[in-house]
Amino acid sequence: EEEIPEDHPRYQDLLTRHRIEKGVENGITHLQGMHAEGRGSAFDYLLGEETIPTADDAERAAAAHLLLADHPVLSINGNVAALVPGEMATLADVVDADLEVNLFNRTPERMETIAEHLREHGATDVKGLEADARIPNLDHQRAKVDEDGIYAADVVLVPLEDGDRAEALEGMGKTEIVIDLNPLSRSPQVADVPIVDNIIRAIPNVTDHARELADADEKRLREIVDEFDRETALEAAEERIRNGF
Ligand code: ATP
Ligand code: MG
Repeated sequence: EEEIPEDHPRYQDLLTRHRIEKGVENGITHLQGMHAEGRGSAFDYLLGEETIPTADDAERAAAAHLLLADHPVLSINGNVAALVPGEMATLADVVDADLEVNLFNRTPERMETIAEHLREHGATDVKGLEADARIPNLDHQRAKVDEDGIYAADVVLVPLEDGDRAEALEGMGKTEIVIDLNPLSRSPQVADVPIVDNIIRAIPNVTDHARELADADEKRLREIVDEFDRETALEAAEERIRNGF
């Protein structure tokens, strides 16, 4: 990270790529995660590499949902852990949520490496290692979750989530917040709150909104949740990508 000059016009994109490469080297990110990053980078380029206004609305609605939740859980995969480990730990702290590691390509080694990486970045309690419950209607490996984590959660934040898993979580009746740069991907399509933004910008912004709303009463938080329209947000993101406005 030291090698990339901050005034480089594509600084953020280079930084992102570099973190994913390091994640692969350190056994945190699967090689497939590198391909996912490439797809994300292309969409981000077309979005102008900025948080569009409807994404900011979604990030504010996400903060309100997390603050209203009885049991919010933030899901962590290999890309999330490589890109925003400290930012996820901070958000968990601010909204009083659990962090749970959940991998598409699950191995005990990667689970432990990621949990340790999160702890090094300030996470106190990391779930996902018990894997004592299953998400219904999903194949065995990807269905593994913690009974007192994602399984019991009422609100889940699932960044860069695979479509099948996003659908299965939605099927469990959870309030689902998805971060995904491709508005046409199934995960944002099934989300209650689709955030079409780079996770690098999205997480700190959700945290800022949550801090600002920390003293808001339940009525105000409900208003923010109700005012958010998922269809409008998805359409605005697609419009920006296709037409540049
Ligand atoms: P499918 O249609 O099967 O869902 P996919 O291209 O969506 O295929 P996935 O592996 O399910 O592949 O999802 C990865 C998603 O994460 C992609 O939509 C990609 O655009 C998005 N993505 C990658 N990097 C980032 C990032 N830094 N921030 C936000 N989204 C990202
Ligand atoms: Mg997808």
